[in-house]
Amino acid sequence: MSTLKLRKQSDGFILDYGHVRLALDTGVRGETTLLTHAHADHLKGIENAHRVIATQATREALLARGHKLRTRFETLEHNERTGQLGVVITSLNAGHVVGSSMYHLEFDEGLSVLYTGDFNVVDSMVHFAAEPKAADVLITEATYGTPQWVFPKRQEIYHQILTTTEETIEAGRIPVFQAYSLGKAQEAIALLQWGGFNVVSGNHMINEVCKVYNRHGSDLRASSLRSEKARTQLKAGCAVVSSSFHHTRKNIRAHLDSRTASDVLGRLEHFVLSGWTLGDSSRTGFPLSAHSDFWGLLKFAKKVSPRVIYCFTGNAAEFSGHLSKEGFSAVPLE
Ligand SMILES: [Zn+2]
Repeated sequence: MSTLKLRKQSDGFILDYGHVRLALDTGVRGETTLLTHAHADHLKGIENAHRVIATQATREALLARGHKLRTRFETLEHNERTGQLGVVITSLNAGHVVGSSMYHLEFDEGLSVLYTGDFNVVDSMVHFAAEPKAADVLITEATYGTPQWVFPKRQEIYHQILTTTEETIEAGRIPVFQAYSLGKAQEAIALLQWGGFNVVSGNHMINEVCKVYNRHGSDLRASSLRSEKARTQLKAGCAVVSSSFHHTRKNIRAHLDSRTASDVLGRLEHFVLSGWTLGDSSRTGFPLSAHSDFWGLLKFAKKVSPRVIYCFTGNAAEFSGHLSKEGFSAVPLE
């Protein structure tokens, strides 16, 4: 029986098992990369790969964010399988951002491995929840892997965001929700639209990523700050979704006449959409996260029921400790 070896490279991993070598969210010259999604910390070195496997939506999200795809790219949609000598690779929905995947690997010698990338175990306005799949080895993210990170129910967070939006607009102010341009910005836009609010996107990148979501089943209609429609909406009452408060302020100055710009800038109210706002009184916002919280990570690991768990990111060591207490053989990958 071969031994599974995992080595960290950039923010990803190189997996060796028998004669199979795979790069997970990183790149190795001459080898295959399994790319989980298009966030920047998962892309380092992929230009070195012989081929990159990901979903079509991930490919489009990369292009929307200005990446030049110089590597051979092969699409593998969720629940599809592909293979190379010695291993069968299945892509599974990760529920994190558009097209995000987990990878389930079945080696010829019988070993199975589940690599999560970033994942979320609850449904959102724009993503379905990630579902666990049994494996001998689980390689899991642990961003929120300590018990202090337990998020309220998503419906509750949604309700709070919509109530705040209504109150802010009624007070003559403009709520600006700051969220990553890929994933959470689109979730916020979908929610605010559903709540009946007009939405203006504060950054060009958000619009570009919205187009990818719309090609893959969403119906996001945020107005660009450059449009006449946005000008009318900003005067009449609307919400703004922005990946950078600073850039949005700059864009308002650049695209609106000076009188409208100074009126709009004086009415902005800044809210952050991030899991990290939980318990952080210095940041006004809501704990809307694209990641699983502590209980989500733990329940997911239990359902995968692996013999060995490798944890990565933020709280890897702490989460490994919790898993060990639950009887798992768990180690941080650092
Ligand atoms: Zn991510």
